[in-house]
Amino acid sequence: MDADPQPTPAALAHGLSLIRRRRWYLWGAILIYLPALKLTMLLSPSLQITLSVVGLWLLFSFSFAFYAALARCPRCGNYFHMHGPTLLFLRKCLHCQLHLCADRQS
Ligand SMILES: [Zn+2]
Repeated sequence: MDADPQPTPAALAHGLSLIRRRRWYLWGAILIYLPALKLTMLLSPSLQITLSVVGLWLLFSFSFAFYAALARCPRCGNYFHMHGPTLLFLRKCLHCQLHLCADRQS
């Protein structure tokens, strides 16, 4: 899918900010794992509850990874983080090499 070859700076900034926000959801889910596990083990040493928290964390992490993976590049219209079966959370579009912070550079 090809989008407008020259998006306006506002459209570019909006699209990139959406991608950055989705990446922050994913990183937040990843970073919360150890504190959540530690807190769960302090509050309840039950293995069943701990495994439930791990399962819930896995569900949220995969959901946010899927949500971030489906973000489309505002310049080329392809998936920003996916190229065929390859999923890489790099800071550049895997198709047109648009940087994640291209709207912030002068
Ligand atoms: Zn692109």
